[in-house]
Amino acid sequence: MTLNQIAEAYVKLVLSVGLHDDSYVDAYYGPTDWKNQKVKQALNDLLSHADFLLLQLNALSLPLEDERQRQKFLQLQLSSVHAYINQLAGTHLLFDAESLALYDAQSPPLTEKDFDLILLELDQLLPGDGDLNARLSEYHRDFEIPHDKLDAVFSAAINEARARTKKYIALPEEENFKVEYVSKQIWSAYNWYMGNSYSLIQVNTDFPMFINRAIDLASHEGYPGHHVFNLLIEKHLVNDKGWMEYCIYPLYSPMSFLAEGSANYGIEVAFPEVERMLFEKNTLFPLAGIAPDKAELYYRVQAVLQKLSYAGNMVAKRYLDGEVDRATAIHLLMKYALSDEKRSTQRISFIEKNRSYVINYNLGQDIVKAYVERRAGKNDEQHRWKIFADLLRHPRTASMMID
Ligand SMILES: [Zn+2]
Repeated sequence: MTLNQIAEAYVKLVLSVGLHDDSYVDAYYGPTDWKNQKVKQALNDLLSHADFLLLQLNALSLPLEDERQRQKFLQLQLSSVHAYINQLAGTHLLFDAESLALYDAQSPPLTEKDFDLILLELDQLLPGDGDLNARLSEYHRDFEIPHDKLDAVFSAAINEARARTKKYIALPEEENFKVEYVSKQIWSAYNWYMGNSYSLIQVNTDFPMFINRAIDLASHEGYPGHHVFNLLIEKHLVNDKGWMEYCIYPLYSPMSFLAEGSANYGIEVAFPEVERMLFEKNTLFPLAGIAPDKAELYYRVQAVLQKLSYAGNMVAKRYLDGEVDRATAIHLLMKYALSDEKRSTQRISFIEKNRSYVINYNLGQDIVKAYVERRAGKNDEQHRWKIFADLLRHPRTASMMID
């Protein structure tokens, strides 16, 4: 089989796995008849087919570096599909083994001790004394975006993120998105990529939206995050090169490590610290009716909280590996990730559904950041955008970024 034939067979295999799990195919904009022809096949047959395609792919010897990178990425995607079929058939690996099999990456083995010092740091920043979780909730209350101002604030953030991204990355004329406000979801926002450079961005209003989330979500879901990543892949890989494996996006795969990691790192690419602070103080805080002089301390607190994000991986690992029960997992999230009880409960539902997927956000961000900054340095904005955009157009998995 040629690489193109294997790519087509891979797309059809992912579509077949999708018939066993609704959430597996996150985006598809390939030929409709590939999708319509699908009848549900037994998991065992899909597993043998994945084995067969992997053998075919491994046997190819390709002359060009570009093609070898394509082959390598597809090998890791295919072996992830293989692992996911096993998971659907009931084989659950331990957390670290699962994340390696599905996402080609493993979160560092951190424990409570690693987070205790960070909690101390926060204790000194926050007003009052006593229980940190309660104090943080109290402190955060001033930074909620009022419901009736949410759309104005979020629109301002996404328009700014878009303008900043367009300065450095050429986007198709017709690219566009729509924002919808929804409720009763286990995520806080979601990008549904529809093809033809168009995204539906949904924002969940079950929880109060804090002011930092405006830029975070606008960049992560939109520019230069998921919307831009998807449209660059569609344009450069699917339409220009005919690499059909990229017309489908299996959610539980190395593709998500790069997607979530680049979407999170993209926030600081679009809004470097000093520029972000200016935009927050001059535009977003006033739009939300929050006093701009509160912004400095607020963002110092957020920077410390960011360092606690790996506590979420630690808790997910212990819970999924059966070391702690649900109530203890919620308690650990409240203590070490400092989310309040309601949000910690929502996070446990996310962990139950998406399992080791959680590593894609923080470890993904750190690995993409290290990859880009090793090549571009920290201070050359233009060069950083270039390396970042090149990575989106030439996808790499975690191990390919570390090499
Ligand atoms: Zn995301």
